[in-house]
Amino acid sequence: MNNESIFQDIINKKIQTNIVYQDTIITAFEDINPKAPVHILIVPNIFIKSSNEINKKNKYILAHMFYIAVKIAKKQKISREGYKIIINCNKNGGQEINYLHMHLLGGKELRSLY
Ligand code: 5GP
Repeated sequence: MNNESIFQDIINKKIQTNIVYQDTIITAFEDINPKAPVHILIVPNIFIKSSNEINKKNKYILAHMFYIAVKIAKKQKISREGYKIIINCNKNGGQEINYLHMHLLGGKELRSLY
């Protein structure tokens, strides 16, 4: 499914969304269907389809996404109790939107998948 434009429109502010952080590399915004009291999506500003497309040239973006996810977790005061960071990839990984994104979830106890 070609649904990557949803996140492109959010980054470009064509869709009204609560953006919690944005810089030249990434954008972080509230998930439309939150699975926890805090559920933020962090995406690269340039299109990367999935984690399969991470390469030598763009891997710095992932480090930045992680760094900002932790900063947001601290700012939203979920870091002490803990949080989950998830990246889904393709069908078996449960990726619905074909645009690389990191989920930051917290504010309640979240069970482990394994
Ligand atoms: P995935 O299953 O692909 O890892 O997660 C996609 C996430 O994007 C889901 O948690 C879903 O709720 C969220 N999402 C889908 N469409 C929109 C939208 O239009 N706006 C926002 N803010 N989140 C969306």
